[in-house]
Amino acid sequence: MDLLNTLVDKGLRRELPTREEALAVLATSDDDVLDVVAAAGKVRRHWFGRRVKLNYLVNLKSGLCPEDCSYCSQRLGSSTGILKYSWLKPDEASKAAAAGLAGGAKRVCLVASGRGPTDRDVDRVAGTIKAIKEQHEGVEVCACLGLLSDGQAERLREAGADAYNHNLNTSEGTYGDITTTHTYADRVDTVNKAHAAGLSACSGLIAGMGESDEDLVDVVFSLRELDPDSVPVNFLIPVEGTPLAKEWNLTPQRCLRILAMVRFVCPDVEVRIAGGREVHLRTLQPLALHLANSVFLGDYLTTEGQAGRADLEMIADAGFVVEGSDEVTLPQHRAEAQGGGCGSHGAEGAVCGSHGAEGAGCGSHAEAGCGSACDSHEAVAVPAGEPRTDLVAVRRRGAGTDLAPNA
Ligand code: SF4
Repeated sequence: MDLLNTLVDKGLRRELPTREEALAVLATSDDDVLDVVAAAGKVRRHWFGRRVKLNYLVNLKSGLCPEDCSYCSQRLGSSTGILKYSWLKPDEASKAAAAGLAGGAKRVCLVASGRGPTDRDVDRVAGTIKAIKEQHEGVEVCACLGLLSDGQAERLREAGADAYNHNLNTSEGTYGDITTTHTYADRVDTVNKAHAAGLSACSGLIAGMGESDEDLVDVVFSLRELDPDSVPVNFLIPVEGTPLAKEWNLTPQRCLRILAMVRFVCPDVEVRIAGGREVHLRTLQPLALHLANSVFLGDYLTTEGQAGRADLEMIADAGFVVEGSDEVTLPQHRAEAQGGGCGSHGAEGAVCGSHGAEGAGCGSHAEAGCGSACDSHEAVAVPAGEPRTDLVAVRRRGAGTDLAPNA
């Protein structure tokens, strides 16, 4: 296919595709999906080899948010039965982080619900970063705390944060349909503040919220312009109790096309499969590793992922290797441009309900905390295209509970 040859050539040269080319990737048919994966996989391997970076989420503060992001189970008025708790203490957060790091993660993502941190919250997170860094040499820490006020990015940087995550989520044109309590411009401003403070910027999107192909291309082109080091791609988990609970719009093939488009538009950037991996890609998750070079290990903020062991087995079986803490994530030209910060190790991503998308994932074969669907482990025929509510399980283990985390 001429389109794919052109996009591979451009990806290897870091040349921006045209909007028409990006749209054409999204418009390819299911018959062509393996060709699309193979083409984008060439670009992925050129810049990142077969390495997969593992990231681990620690939800420092869960629920009770005054904002109204429609996709988020932590929003104002959410009737989802998620865990709700206030700030974890530094030693609690460090303990949660340790589980992910022991499982092979090289980055810890510290996330808190809310519009944005107070200065006191920033001090609190600074203490947590210090505790984690003291106990885990070489760990990368990313903060995801919402909209930043002047000076807060600098304070996080001084405290040792390597990266800051704040997702654009959707196109500027549709942002007001998703959230009314803050604006797209607010989000862009925070990503720019992180950049300016020398933090490795991470910013991504949520697909599956009812947006058009044009909207998806808009947000990915905007991200390329913002130039984050990493781009988390969330696939909406339509959690019951949120306004988007009925938006089951994604198929595994559609998810692959979206990831391929992101890879072609942002070829040398850490593309992370974030929330919704297990729910929407399902058994095609291994194919997505040919497109993205980064995933979250274990659970998400308010929902459960598949067992950490299953993540590691999938990566190995698909012929990829977990990136070591002594390896540099980003291609040399990006790592050098980043200089300080953690650019050398890529950037953050999150799946935040809070500031990214929510992620879940059933772990239909997880060792613990499995959703109701897997109680019996009996084979049940699942009609293609049916909403897979059975794969969505609210997180009941790890941070904020007495149960061991999934890592
Ligand atoms: S995404 Fe963040 S700001 Fe929006 S409702 Fe969720 S926790 Fe609050």
